[in-house]
Amino acid sequence: MNASDPGMIDNFGRRFGYVRLSVTEICNFRCLYCLPDGYRKTADPGFLTPDEILRLVRALTGLGIRKLRLTGGEPTIRTDLTEIITRVAAVPGISKCALTTNGWNLDRHAAEWVEAGLTHLNVSVDSLDPAQFAGITGHDRLDEILAGIDRALSLPLAAVKLNAVLLADSVSEGFGNWAEYVRHRRLSVRFIELMRTGDNREFFSRQHVSGNLLRQWLDTEGWVPCARGADDGPAVEFSHPDFQGRIGLIAPYAPGFCDGCNRLRVTARGRLRLCLFASDGPDSPDGCDLRDLLRHDGQTDALHARVLDALRFKRAGHALHAADPGNLVNLSRTGG
Ligand code: SF4
Repeated sequence: MNASDPGMIDNFGRRFGYVRLSVTEICNFRCLYCLPDGYRKTADPGFLTPDEILRLVRALTGLGIRKLRLTGGEPTIRTDLTEIITRVAAVPGISKCALTTNGWNLDRHAAEWVEAGLTHLNVSVDSLDPAQFAGITGHDRLDEILAGIDRALSLPLAAVKLNAVLLADSVSEGFGNWAEYVRHRRLSVRFIELMRTGDNREFFSRQHVSGNLLRQWLDTEGWVPCARGADDGPAVEFSHPDFQGRIGLIAPYAPGFCDGCNRLRVTARGRLRLCLFASDGPDSPDGCDLRDLLRHDGQTDALHARVLDALRFKRAGHALHAADPGNLVNLSRTGG
């Protein structure tokens, strides 16, 4: 594999040039579909150190990884996040350094992260109604998060995007206010179909709705689909001549959703996870531990071999239609 090769290829001919790296499992929000009771501290979290993260990213660029997304839990909980961004964004081969955050401290730190090398920002905002936002996240912070987003829009980021979990409640709230929100903002709001996890069975049964409801609304209102970039995530985005921003849909339950899979994940404890809905236990082929190869320099070849060997076991897709979320307990464990 040489540095110009844009990504590893699995048994289904899919190319992987994008890694979602979780840098912590800790989150300060209590979202109803993920951590309704909040994060329960464990004795020694033992998350990857900045040195281990740097070794990992350097090795992954040798396998053609070009886009890196830092996730969590809530990655901005880490007090060394700016150092991590500085070091990984400078790795030769990384062309996109992205962050997904719940936005709690965005207003204060956005400029610092961009200065450090951040190129792409995603903020999770599930409702524009302050009461509903507080009801979903457990935090009455919508105004300061929206202020942080406007701050980020004033910075030299390649893209600012919002992720909103599509809930039955959001459908009843309507999409018109979201359209107004993007009328004069150059960003995209992407609705994500609520996904079943090990922990959210009851909430899922009450709140899951199909993304087709949003598509129908977009169609009726004259929004048209936009072309997708090679290493774009799974969102289908729509534009409208009267609006600066876009509205998008991530529909894991849609047929063929996994056909275009282009991303791998590494957990905050250094486990490669081949799929969000993998069943990666110690003996499972759905992932492997990389940590022992990250503790010291000089392990790049061994890490390449272990990742490429694991990739042979990547499945065609998830089994959500069979209500099987794999061993995904909640999204904070894998960075969504
Ligand atoms: S569910 Fe798994 S296979 Fe499907 S797109 Fe996501 S990571 Fe890829």
